[in-house]
Formats: sequence, structure tokens, C-alpha cells
Amino acid sequence: MPDLRVALVPVGKMDGAEVEEAAARVSKVIRGAVEVREPLPHPKSAEDATRGQYGTPAVLAEARGALQRLGLRKTVGGAAAAAAPALTVLVTDLDLYAPARDWVLAETDAARRISIVSVRRLREAFYRRKADPGKQRARLAKEILRAVGRLRGLPDCGDPACAMAATLSLADVDRKGERYCAGCWKRLSTGAMRI
Ligand SMILES: [Zn+2]
Repeated sequence: MPDLRVALVPVGKMDGAEVEEAAARVSKVIRGAVEVREPLPHPKSAEDATRGQYGTPAVLAEARGALQRLGLRKTVGGAAAAAAPALTVLVTDLDLYAPARDWVLAETDAARRISIVSVRRLREAFYRRKADPGKQRARLAKEILRAVGRLRGLPDCGDPACAMAATLSLADVDRKGERYCAGCWKRLSTGAMRI
């Protein structure tokens, strides 16, 4: 079996219950346990006060130094693995941007095996629409599944219903299922090579 040991790490004030719910949904799809770690501190140094946003390279850099020290909060969907998780996905409610991008839903640093997903723009409230917790939870699970695939070196998938389909807008996220297509799952579960 490939190394699909996943850990989710809340950042700052991110709601822990929301992260645990996402862990349960992701665990079902990858058919393995997902760890939820203690939260990382608020990434003050990554803040761009003018934009009201946080730069993903700085958030990831700050997180990398602190990850080793984070305790385990909970293991969801199976027994805890003996070894440290191979794939780490940070979950934040901060609004993220990246170099030359006004905003990003998620960003992956595959070389360092770390990824970040923001729930800020997955929430209907961001668009001044009525809250839809069910939709929001599904969106977060899908974005985490995509991050896991990216961390394993999977490219974008041409199947719009697959979790690995490119997400340029929220509509792209909503169009997906909470699953990988057969091809992507095979690559993930049989130890896909990095592209
Ligand atoms: Zn696919």
C-alpha cells in the first residue's frame, strides 16, 4: 500500500469541529485514518494588512518550523499510525493569496509535503449569501482531497466530477463529487509516481 497517511492541522482560530468533520469525510474516501493535530498559532508574520490577506508561502514557511512540535488531537476513521503522517494539510479560515494571484482556495508545496486549504471563500457568507453548512463541509472535504492528490504528485484531472479536477472557481468545486475518479484513485492507491 502507498503512503496515504494524512494529517490535518488547524491554523489559528479555525474551528476544530469543522476540521474533525472534514477528517471523517476524507478518511472515508481514502479508506484510511486521518489525524487531526493541535492547531498552529495564528501566522502573524504572513499577514498583509493592506490586502487583509495572508501570503501562502509565508504561512507554509512559518508552519514548517512548528509542525514537529504539534501534538495529536484525534485520529479519525481508524487506528493511529505508528509513523508520522506523510502528507500534511493545513486548514485555515484566513483569506489567502499567492504571488501574482489575488486569492487562492488552496496551495500545495509538494516538495515539502505540505498543503494549505482556506475555508474563507468556501463559505456562502463570503459572498453575502445565506449560510449553507452542508455545502461548505462538502467543499472543504473536496479541497482537502485535491490537496492530498497534489501532495502525491497527481496532475489535474479532466473529469469534472473528480476531486482532482482543476478548481478555478467555486462552481468548479461544487461540480465535483467527494471522490476520485477510477484513474486518479488507482494512481493514488497503488503508489502513483510524481509527475
Ligand atoms: Zn480523476
